[in-house]
Amino acid sequence: MDKLAIVVPCYNEEPMLKISSEALRGVLDDLVAKGKISPDSFVLFVNDGSKDRTWDLIEEEHKLYPKQVCGVKLAGNVGHQYALTAGLLTAKDMSDVTVSIDADLQDDVAVIEEMIDKFHAGCDIVYGVRRERKTDTFFKRTTAQGFYKMMDMMGVKTIYNHADFRLMSKRAVEQFSQYKETNLYLRGMMPLIGYQTDSVYYDRKERVAGESKYPLKKMLALAFNGISSLSVKPITLILGLGLLIIGISVLAALYALISYFTGHVVPGWTSLILSIWFLGGLQLLAIGLVGQYIGKIYIEVKHRPRYNIEKILQSEE
Ligand code: UDP
Ligand code: MG
Repeated sequence: MDKLAIVVPCYNEEPMLKISSEALRGVLDDLVAKGKISPDSFVLFVNDGSKDRTWDLIEEEHKLYPKQVCGVKLAGNVGHQYALTAGLLTAKDMSDVTVSIDADLQDDVAVIEEMIDKFHAGCDIVYGVRRERKTDTFFKRTTAQGFYKMMDMMGVKTIYNHADFRLMSKRAVEQFSQYKETNLYLRGMMPLIGYQTDSVYYDRKERVAGESKYPLKKMLALAFNGISSLSVKPITLILGLGLLIIGISVLAALYALISYFTGHVVPGWTSLILSIWFLGGLQLLAIGLVGQYIGKIYIEVKHRPRYNIEKILQSEE
């Protein structure tokens, strides 16, 4: 039977930890009782350099439930995406399948069972998708939705309204570990892995206790990181803009020449206006062109796996 590891990044989650632990242990007990996962499945709390008593509580829980609660202590605060990665890569060697979830229980733990069912049906990645964002503030909802739309325009494959609540099989995490890049935007990277995937839907709840660790500043940083680490399209946009402005400079040239010959201009204006448009366009074009090479270098240095083989069919000797 498959051993499940539930990976939970925690940063200053003192008010949440016991509640989380209890809820997630409940999920484990339930799934074990139903015979869906092995009895030695566990919750792995990753302490992301918390400044409060989060780690002490994780240790306490581990003492109380040595089999069901494990912990990883990071030496300092590295941020959600990195803490989650540390948890997944640690869990990979201890389990057959992982589910990542936030400590605040905003994501519905009840759909973990559905995720496991889909895993047993052959999925390697199952995305938890929010049905609607009723409980989010108007501000968070609109900014988040605008963000997903923009990512889409930038050519980054993301799952709409999916954050970091997802199931990954051992081999999916193993393939993920081949992505050696340092700038992580997990929800944009997982779709690159491939394999059979599916989604489960749930209503996002309010944080049970404690407060959000994602203020606007961190959200913007995450958004920018998401685009800049998965897409070189912004550079191509500059190239396009350069071409457009050179096009406009032709029109500006016509206009300037007509004005010149009809005699309505101050001396020197025609040559100035022509130079401004043409040189401006040329400069953007040049920057865009150089940018194309930088974009290529950027993609090369990531050393991402070039493909992921899912199956090989061959005759047996
Ligand atoms: N988190 C973390 N390191 C950080 C910030 C957040 O491990 O530097 C964890 C946090 O403990 C929580 C998850 O990331 O389990 C998501 O954070 P939060 O719920 O505050 O984000 P929100 O739901 O408000 O976007
Ligand atoms: Mg949250």
